[in-house]
Amino acid sequence: MKAGVLALQGDFREHARVLADIGATPVEVRDAEGLAGVDCLVIPGGESTTMAKLARAYDLVAPVRERIARGMPVFGTCAGMIVLARRVSGGEPLFGVMDIGVERNAYGRQIDSFEADVEVDGIEGLVRGVFIRAPRITDVGQGVRVLAEHEGSPVVLEAGNLLVSSFHPELIGEAGLHRYLLAKL
Ligand code: GLN
Repeated sequence: MKAGVLALQGDFREHARVLADIGATPVEVRDAEGLAGVDCLVIPGGESTTMAKLARAYDLVAPVRERIARGMPVFGTCAGMIVLARRVSGGEPLFGVMDIGVERNAYGRQIDSFEADVEVDGIEGLVRGVFIRAPRITDVGQGVRVLAEHEGSPVVLEAGNLLVSSFHPELIGEAGLHRYLLAKL
């Protein structure tokens, strides 16, 4: 099964490694043609403003939205969550497909990065993640399920074929959420 990783910017290589570890075939996606060949898509962490600029430059916005509308499973981490959100305070939505609001860089500066274990609904055992200038969820629309919270804030959410986390599991080889994504196929 071909698991796409949006490879415009950010830590797409780490995601590809986790996907390979759990038996998927990772495929770096940079254009509409590449997107057409994958069964699901991971949108990595990085810098959402840069990612947005590149996604527009490579004409990827409409094709990604179309695939999502047709049911392709997508997992966005951190900046990947920001570009999927409908409302972005301190920024502009890009794909704007998930009914959540996010506030960018809410977890402080790079130097305040931390790791935490979270309990995720539907996943056995704890899921470990790294929070790096992570976005905070400001509001959750109807039809969006909160799968995990950290200190009272939602950090993993699901809406149909969409899955997002405000932290990075891929940086420490944590595969629980990637497995959860593949189970949607
Ligand atoms: N602060 C970044 C942004 O707003 C996200 C950080 C990350 O992906 N670790 O895009």
